[in-house]
Amino acid sequence: MKKHNFSAGPCVLPQEVFQKASEALINFNNMGLSIIEISHRDKNFIAVMDKAQALALELLGLNDKGYKALFLQGGASMQFLMAAYNLLENKAVYADTGSWSSKAIKEAKLFGEIEVIASSKDKNYNYIPKGYAVPSDADYFHCTSNNTIFGTQYKEFPETNIPLVCDMSSDIFSRQLDFSKFDLIYAGAQKNIGPAGTSLVVVKEDVLEKVSRTIPSMLDYKVHLDKDSMFNTPPVFAVYVSMLNLDWLQNLGGIQEIEKLNNQKADLLYTEIDRNPLFTGFATKEDRSVMNATFNLVDESHKEVFDKMWKEANINGLNGHRSVGGYRASMYNGLTLESVEVLVETMKKFENTI
Ligand SMILES: *Cc1c(COP(=O)(O)O)cnc(C)c1O
Repeated sequence: MKKHNFSAGPCVLPQEVFQKASEALINFNNMGLSIIEISHRDKNFIAVMDKAQALALELLGLNDKGYKALFLQGGASMQFLMAAYNLLENKAVYADTGSWSSKAIKEAKLFGEIEVIASSKDKNYNYIPKGYAVPSDADYFHCTSNNTIFGTQYKEFPETNIPLVCDMSSDIFSRQLDFSKFDLIYAGAQKNIGPAGTSLVVVKEDVLEKVSRTIPSMLDYKVHLDKDSMFNTPPVFAVYVSMLNLDWLQNLGGIQEIEKLNNQKADLLYTEIDRNPLFTGFATKEDRSVMNATFNLVDESHKEVFDKMWKEANINGLNGHRSVGGYRASMYNGLTLESVEVLVETMKKFENTI
């Protein structure tokens, strides 16, 4: 029986995406071949890559605005250094809103001066810092739109007149934003795009080729752009499943529609976290993530009972990250409202048991 999967990543994708992906593993496009045994130069795969790139730009509302989409390897973690390698000449400014931001900062420091202009480290990253000014003398400002581990999310982004770079690994395609405010967006696929093994990079072409250093080909956005994301063998299966998932989203009505469902799921769960006296939310209310809800037991001695109950309810992946403890319910696009209803019912049942 299919579990209610609240895993933070890799995560659940729509069932029909799993179904189509499994069919293509055996016989892709009626070719009598598996998707993973054909040449990436075959027209059948080139069509997949083209469609995945086009869907990404279209869903984000970035068609004909000077942006290109790439499917690269190395995960979002590779983008921590690639962003700096390609854009950092002298100094960049960063917001430190969690473990992933910190890792991005660490890598960028290898390439130039990094100034952390905002941080929520003082409170174990349970909020999004606000009210700071982004200086205009830096090469770019980097932020993390959704902090997967801590369950916080930017509701508004600071105004900048320098290029804006954003790690959107865990909330891209989940909510409407003016994506044209961003010059470089990257996201590991395994949170809201597809399987692990590829990351989406959406870049505005005019921010490139401004640094004086020589960039190794594999780390150079321009090289990948010129080769249409086919400089070397792309992760064909990961790109294919990502394309299926973006197509699913498009057919559903795009980000506008999924955002309604995502808000419904988050409202349902946060209402229960706030109502149920046995639980307490981790993130500051106004900064709560619609994707990853973090919460703890008020009395840790009840842990064994609750853990047994949610496991019996066919729920998977609810344990919090070790730096926060407690629980984390990740509610990416592929998670159904029904799964959240099951979790909320279980929390109510737990209250009645204690
Ligand atoms: C998961 C995650 C990462 C790391 O992604 P990898 O693909 O594993 O490198 C980076 N940033 C955020 C916000 C994440 O959620």
